[in-house]
Amino acid sequence: MLIETHNPKETFRVGMKLGEEAYPGQVFTLTGDLGVGKTVFTQGLAKGLGIEEPVSSPTFTIVQVYDGGRLPFCHFDVYRISDVEEMEEVGFDDYVMGDGVSLIEWADLIKEILPAKRTEVLIEKDLERGFDYRRITIEELE
Ligand code: ADP
Ligand code: MG
Repeated sequence: MLIETHNPKETFRVGMKLGEEAYPGQVFTLTGDLGVGKTVFTQGLAKGLGIEEPVSSPTFTIVQVYDGGRLPFCHFDVYRISDVEEMEEVGFDDYVMGDGVSLIEWADLIKEILPAKRTEVLIEKDLERGFDYRRITIEELE
């Protein structure tokens, strides 16, 4: 599925819709360059799950868990990990196998350990279409 957005609010709403429809155990992977809108999308997804707490990128911890919504939400940002073994140390498998909804920013850095069944989200700019244009590609993998 391909969705085009023209401002942050639209990207937020794409995330929100997916958050509203998310099922227990669903894993989202999020890929795209710095500043493309991964956090904006994630904030929308959290909102769609009913989380009122402000969601930002987990800066010093790899994972941040939010319990205030319809389902637990595990937000990973793996930008700073140097080795996939670090993911095992934070209990990645337990989160991903659990009943919560997981979202992994920079998921391409830990390709080897991603679950086969996942919802891949790719966000890209296209400067020819304007500075605020984003192309969001969503693909269900089994
Ligand atoms: P990332 O987490 O990918 O590094 P952020 O979500 O933190 O990126 O930041 C995205 C930036 O791009 C924000 O400043 C946001 O206002 C801006 N922006 C402009 N247009 C869009 C759009 N269509 N979708 C999402 N963000 C946009
Ligand atoms: Mg971010």
